[in-house]
Amino acid sequence: MRICICLSRWVASFAERIAMRGPAPAMAVFFVFILFFGNLALEAGERQILIKVAQYPNAIEFNCPNGAAWELGGRKKWIKPSDKCKIEGTIVASALKRFHVIVADIPFRDAPKTDESVSAWKAAGWPVHTIVLGREFSGPGGRSFAADGRRTFVGVGIFGDFASAGELVASLSESGGSPFVHEEVVNLSQGRVTLKINGEVQAVGQELALEPTQLIHLYKVEFAAGYPWHGFEDRDYRGRLLVRWGAHDALDCVLQSDLDSVLAGIVPSEISAKADVGALQAQAVAARGEIMSSIGVNHAGEGFDTCSEQHCQVYGGETPYVASIALKIAPTRGMVLAHQSGSILDAVYASNCGGHGEANHLVWTTEPDPVLIGIWDTAAPLPLDLSEEEQAGRFIRNLAADCFCNDPSVEGGDKFRWNKTISAPDWKTVESKLGIGRIKRVTDLARGFSGRIYQMSFIGDQETKTVKKELTIRQLLGSLRSSCFIAAWKLDSAGYIVGADLSGAGFGHGVGMCQTGAQALAKRGWTFDRILAHYYPGSLLKKWY
Ligand SMILES: [Zn+2]
Ligand SMILES: [Zn+2]
Repeated sequence: MRICICLSRWVASFAERIAMRGPAPAMAVFFVFILFFGNLALEAGERQILIKVAQYPNAIEFNCPNGAAWELGGRKKWIKPSDKCKIEGTIVASALKRFHVIVADIPFRDAPKTDESVSAWKAAGWPVHTIVLGREFSGPGGRSFAADGRRTFVGVGIFGDFASAGELVASLSESGGSPFVHEEVVNLSQGRVTLKINGEVQAVGQELALEPTQLIHLYKVEFAAGYPWHGFEDRDYRGRLLVRWGAHDALDCVLQSDLDSVLAGIVPSEISAKADVGALQAQAVAARGEIMSSIGVNHAGEGFDTCSEQHCQVYGGETPYVASIALKIAPTRGMVLAHQSGSILDAVYASNCGGHGEANHLVWTTEPDPVLIGIWDTAAPLPLDLSEEEQAGRFIRNLAADCFCNDPSVEGGDKFRWNKTISAPDWKTVESKLGIGRIKRVTDLARGFSGRIYQMSFIGDQETKTVKKELTIRQLLGSLRSSCFIAAWKLDSAGYIVGADLSGAGFGHGVGMCQTGAQALAKRGWTFDRILAHYYPGSLLKKWY
């Protein structure tokens, strides 16, 4: 880790000197550098993972119901079950970050594609750089397991602040691309942590390690920040817990635990604990693959592999479900999905596809992946082209469509079709977000394979604005369940839009496994491997450990 941080700091200072001159096309500055990120916890054969489970501004209260050992600042001692414990933090230096404008995200093994992208941007005069993120996994005991989670990001600018990178992203978006900002953590914040037991200072140091006999009980863990269900609750964790200053100038709580124990907690957070065993097992394999493919990508340089929030996968620690789920998913231990090429599949999933899955590259800035192209969630394909407006409308209005996820008896089945009204005040909010005056017309809808809209233009009385990406569209129009909808726009006497009635299909981005469909299929007796083969066509099921 230390080596990675030092290397990235050196490279970033080099990169900054070049990037600060600005990404003007005429400069034609070309350089390539490669950074290898990834934590050392997931070595061959090991099944340990580092997951950030909580973040606190500067103080943490906890107890250990069966006792725990602690280590801080060279001191080691014991916490008794009755002890009331507190950690107080003092920050000394803020985290240092760099912001990369990324224009392509390509599997590491697809070197020709990377060369093609680099050459095209270089020819257009951009200062191109590449970053390799992610991990390569090999099997235990010399067994070959060539799963490769590495990805190459092609970048065209590095900035010291998010706003400048965001401005370049906005201007590149207008000319048709789908760039995004990648935040590179150069240095974590630094500071002290003080452990107090029953009000008395025990030790001061940089990182506190807790080894509980059974559980650590953290008070007021913040979850789902930025989501409508945001809140705080007490949570229990099993495993070694590290507390230190992190990438957000706050105290990070990082749990080191067995990957499959963590999965037993993730599975019931992501899919109903009551689902039939085939769906729980399919979810476990998909989640394991998603974790492995995101190691060293989502939190590069932050000192842990994955987080417990929506950003990675939701993990609420020990819950009453964990023990029974662990038993049910045990037969899938070590299994992940891979591409034919051997690269590990980022086995994404969403709540309800609405009848047809969406293609990954229409949702994110990733290369088209034949495994994630989107399939009919039906016994046989329907003769419809959902990217075509009239046919999409016909399908979305069809409440009785014979799709696997049209099953109200399983969780998520009620999201197969939905209606939503955008009221006059809600529409005012949309207009103010767009900032192009009053809106007369919505036009130029582009729909993906599932019927999800990934681009639409709003004609205002000041200017026209094109909005891209299904998530941006959903957020703009008021937290829609999906961007697979048809709208009946309401006009006032002057011809301006004042609201709309939306009819929609599905819940979520729709890429990869449809969790509602998976539950319905498991109920029909499908096994997890058959479910996975349906949702990830052409993928290989491999056993990593
Ligand atoms: Zn995360
Ligand atoms: Zn579905």
